[in-house]
Amino acid sequence: MCGVFGIFNNKNAAQLTYYALYALQHRGQESAGIVANDNGNLNSHKGLGLVADVFTEEKIETLKGTSAIGHVRYSTTGINSLQNVQPIFFNYRRGNLAIAHNGNLVNAHQLRSHLERQGSIFQGTSDTEVAAHLIARSGYENTEEAVKESLSMLKGSYAMLFMSDTKLIAVRDPNGIRPLSLGKLNGSYVVSSETCAFDTIGATYIRDVEPGEIIMITKDGITSDRITSFPKRATCVFEYIYFARPDSNIEGLNVHSARKELGKKLFQEAPVVADVVTGVPDSSISAAIGFAEEAGIPYELGLIKNRYIGRTFIQPSQELRERGVRLKLSAVRKVVEGKRVVMIDDSIVRGTTSGRIVNMLREAGATEVHVRISSPPVTHSCYYGIDTSAREELIAANKTIEEIREHIGADSLAFLSTDEMINTFGERTDLCGEDKNCSGYCEGCFTGSYPTEIIEQSKFSLER
Ligand code: AMP
Repeated sequence: MCGVFGIFNNKNAAQLTYYALYALQHRGQESAGIVANDNGNLNSHKGLGLVADVFTEEKIETLKGTSAIGHVRYSTTGINSLQNVQPIFFNYRRGNLAIAHNGNLVNAHQLRSHLERQGSIFQGTSDTEVAAHLIARSGYENTEEAVKESLSMLKGSYAMLFMSDTKLIAVRDPNGIRPLSLGKLNGSYVVSSETCAFDTIGATYIRDVEPGEIIMITKDGITSDRITSFPKRATCVFEYIYFARPDSNIEGLNVHSARKELGKKLFQEAPVVADVVTGVPDSSISAAIGFAEEAGIPYELGLIKNRYIGRTFIQPSQELRERGVRLKLSAVRKVVEGKRVVMIDDSIVRGTTSGRIVNMLREAGATEVHVRISSPPVTHSCYYGIDTSAREELIAANKTIEEIREHIGADSLAFLSTDEMINTFGERTDLCGEDKNCSGYCEGCFTGSYPTEIIEQSKFSLER
């Protein structure tokens, strides 16, 4: 998880990047940074915390330049320290290069050990630095050839932006696991993790960057090339389920509409008799609306979120996470008292949130609490940047659905099936080739079947 944004050829490059990062804030709250390019001079500002904490108007003023890239970070690889804050940038024999990365490399550990043995020195622990070293060592004179050569060594997920003295380069891994879209703002090209940032700055969406595509933006316009002859689409389903903003469109599918449809399918698969439907804000509201509409049961605001508290997972320890849930949500007694309540959530990962909410709803007077989850049980770790943690911590990897129901104290519990989830999004088999099992999505966290090789050690070794 992380958000990236880039803009080329705009006199307000840093200011617009700052607004875009605000729109992408949900993708990472641990740090934020902008690097602007003023005719080959890089101006940067980065820091730990939210976009609003890191930047002031005065700081933005100092970021002179006509192109810029920005990043908001949620640390999946690399501890949350200033050295790991992105964009990273450096000066080397080809000039300046700044890099912003969303995703997670599964072979970063191996590559890093190899590079270190050969004398490379690393400043932080993030996997993105590995890409920087590979580019610096490439024999190619030209930046995009060096970038292409380096990317061919990376495994895992990456939606990356590279800003050199004269170019902005956008690239998506051969599976297109993390989203990345291209847009236009008057004479400027913009690239963003999510289209919601385009709406914020008034840019027009052009298209998604294709899996395995590298787009070069220069003063002469854009050119496109491939980093692989064998792209195979595997868009992360969790972007639709939980992570992305409802007003964003990924691969042409609006996130809110997709979630609402998941809610409808969920009712069809697991109907229930109840008085009121409520969703866990914010990510489950769309699914709850869909469920209620399909069920003909009123949708109500049964749970309220304290909007000044970030996502609970952001806190590192289990103890803090548990306290986080209570700080974050409250039940609306007037809505749930004396009622049979259906509580919709988008996912159960460790089982902490659902248990607390069921409890909260009962304390507020609900007579029955039926939990419906608008995704399948998360049974496997994600290695591509969604922080669903180690398998031992995933409740569905260790308990049956009945045991989970008991654990969270619900009257009934049901999850959406993987088949219905994929049917809802619609299969995207254009890049599947002969593979009959390929749906066009990465469903690894639900099925354990991953689009790339997995090197187990890589996820936790650099960091925990
Ligand atoms: P848990 O309490 O561990 O079962 O987490 C499930 C809750 O966290 C759900 O309400 C989700 O909306 C939310 N969630 C799911 N995946 C993530 C994630 N990777 N990071 C943060 N929150 C998540």
